[in-house]
Amino acid sequence: MAQHFDYIAIGGGSGGIASANRAAMRGAKVALIEAKHMGGTCVNVGCVPKKVMWHGAQIAEAINAYAPDYGFDVELKGFSWAKLVESREAYIGRIHQGYNKYLSSNGVTVINGFAKFVDNKTVEVNGELYTADHILVAVGGRPTIPNIPGAELGIDSNGFFELDAQPKRVAVVGAGYIAVEIAGVLHSLGTETHLFVRKNKPLRTFDPYIVDTLIDIMAKEGPTLHTECTPKEVVKESDGSLTIHFENGHSQNVDEVIWAIGRTPTTDKINLAAAGVEVTEAGYVKVDEFQNTTAENVYAVGDIIENGIELTPVAVKAGRILSERLFNKELPDDLKMDYELVPTVVFSHPPIGTIGLTEQQAIDQYGSDNVKVYKSSFAAMYTAVTQHRQACNMMLVCAGEDEKVVGLHGIGFTVDEMLQGFAVAMKMGATKADFDAVVAIHPTGSEEFVTMT
Ligand code: FAD
Ligand code: NDP
Repeated sequence: MAQHFDYIAIGGGSGGIASANRAAMRGAKVALIEAKHMGGTCVNVGCVPKKVMWHGAQIAEAINAYAPDYGFDVELKGFSWAKLVESREAYIGRIHQGYNKYLSSNGVTVINGFAKFVDNKTVEVNGELYTADHILVAVGGRPTIPNIPGAELGIDSNGFFELDAQPKRVAVVGAGYIAVEIAGVLHSLGTETHLFVRKNKPLRTFDPYIVDTLIDIMAKEGPTLHTECTPKEVVKESDGSLTIHFENGHSQNVDEVIWAIGRTPTTDKINLAAAGVEVTEAGYVKVDEFQNTTAENVYAVGDIIENGIELTPVAVKAGRILSERLFNKELPDDLKMDYELVPTVVFSHPPIGTIGLTEQQAIDQYGSDNVKVYKSSFAAMYTAVTQHRQACNMMLVCAGEDEKVVGLHGIGFTVDEMLQGFAVAMKMGATKADFDAVVAIHPTGSEEFVTMT
């Protein structure tokens, strides 16, 4: 006989874990089904290992670029990629333990295996049937691989985290967060790194003021950016190296090719049709603003939803709010996730942070007469005392007579740690006058956001 739960979450990643824990905390009998490793993409092959590698790269930059002008006579005897990976994986192991402990303390039943729908109230895992009043689908995505000859010779972001030795020469193909972040990490750690984008620049959805700064910094410091390069073929050479050929005739011989051209939702093998859950042509689950799918009592959050935002805190928040709506009787039953003004950071070198509208988006929305932009450009003090001066550029996009801050963007040293509080202010509807009314913290980079004229 099938085991019955109030709530089943399929996928032990950012959205599934958060939602399962919250439902259990509200008194529901909950099962969480995970096919691979607890923590999903973020913990195992995403945010966490990426950020550890980025911190490693920051240390390399501090030693190589900045230490000498601060008076340190540092002799770098070596860098062990294997040691960095060992420390990273040990850390991930501790996160797994923490997750399992927390799930267990909330009374969530963890089921290891790959879940498939039987109907909208039943799933099958390893031949066993489980039923629930409500089922959440939070199965995340996988890296997309281009459909060109030799593509299988390359690796993706998962493969990047499996590298047990540092590659000497790498071609990173793609123009989004992952391509920019991996290329920056590899370059800073000493790999000869080529970033290939198929259009005129990476991160095309970000404000040009910010991306153009990144491109200038890449031109000075690396990695080598190649534009207008659409991949055509990858060929293995007799010495084991790889040559990647592009439509424009350019070729590059490297040791690894890394694909970072986007992600595909892993909704194709879970029998969603049996539950009556509709997906788009690309496999994204259709949901309404309450995370309801087209099937009764089946919900979806995270990277798999149509028109979603593929970020861990978005999956987490949507998962928690859904559980509050379903199982917290004290809260209104029209509780829903707000997808506006989601702050985000690209861990590039230096980092980029952005909230809200770009200048162009604001003009499209409010009209050019109603948009005012403030900018600040300076050399980050940390770098300004060295021969490796690096730009820190910031901008505020304001709209309407009261100059409501509808966009806030920055690139530069520690911008990643500046944004969270500004996101609170913007969420509360802060205007430029509110920003001006704040006393700056000096000397910091973030003070520029409240002193722009
Ligand atoms: P996932 O975290 O992908 O979890 C889905 C889980 O479902 C997986 O564990 C999978 O094994 C499991 N699963 C799949 N099918 C089944 C099944 N049938 N049965 C049981 N289990 C199943 N976001 C940020 O906010 N900040 C970052 O810095 C950041 N860096 C990233 C770096 C990289 C390289 C990548 C790839 C992503 C990064 N992201 C980052 C994005 C972030 O990881 C995702 O947005 C987030 O993990 C999505 O959560 P999710 O719950 O939708 O899915
Ligand atoms: P993205 O969707 O961000 O970017 C992929 C880009 O690659 C596309 O926008 C496109 O850019 C380019 N591209 C697409 N197809 C091809 C192709 N066939 N050949 C060459 N280039 C191609 O995907 P990512 O994989 O970088 O990341 C997935 C998501 O994960 C991100 O959007 C983000 O939400 C999340 N993430 C978040 C991070 C963070 O918070 N720091 C870090 C990493 C990931 P163009 O059209 O310009 O060519």
